[in-house]
Amino acid sequence: TERTLVLVKPDGVARGLTGQVLARIEAKGYRLADLRLLHAERAVLEEHYAEHRGKPFFEPLVEFMLSGPVVAAVVEGDRVIEGFRSLAGTTEPTTAAPGTIRGDLGRDWGQKVQQNIVHGSDSPESAEREIGIWFS
Ligand code: ATP
Repeated sequence: TERTLVLVKPDGVARGLTGQVLARIEAKGYRLADLRLLHAERAVLEEHYAEHRGKPFFEPLVEFMLSGPVVAAVVEGDRVIEGFRSLAGTTEPTTAAPGTIRGDLGRDWGQKVQQNIVHGSDSPESAEREIGIWFS
């Protein structure tokens, strides 16, 4: 079995979509192994998004992630990393496929950063690194 880090980002929490996101994860058959509602600290976000440091959307992304509470979850199951990314849909919510979280529940809002409701780790290495950052 495998683990991934899922975040419901501030737009998802503010819009009251946390339950729907968690319901889709559970309906797919994955297990919630840990769950927190928190205001992220800047240092946590800069570490979480370290690979994007220097990109034009980095600072807007960190500011957006600081704009309200987030939900962090450790989700378990066979091939859950790929499985959750498939549930989430592609990065841009406007064009993410219907049937996915971003495709069904998201769209663009004219911001400098894609407000796309969720984050999911993209590899086993990222998952362990990110779980360590959010659940230490
Ligand atoms: P996530 O890692 O959040 O699951 P992802 O893997 O689809 O999404 P990344 O490329 O890791 O996206 O980018 C991290 C986040 O930065 C995105 O989820 C989005 O909020 C924002 N982002 C990424 N690319 C852009 C961009 N070109 N313009 C604005 N925001 C962006």
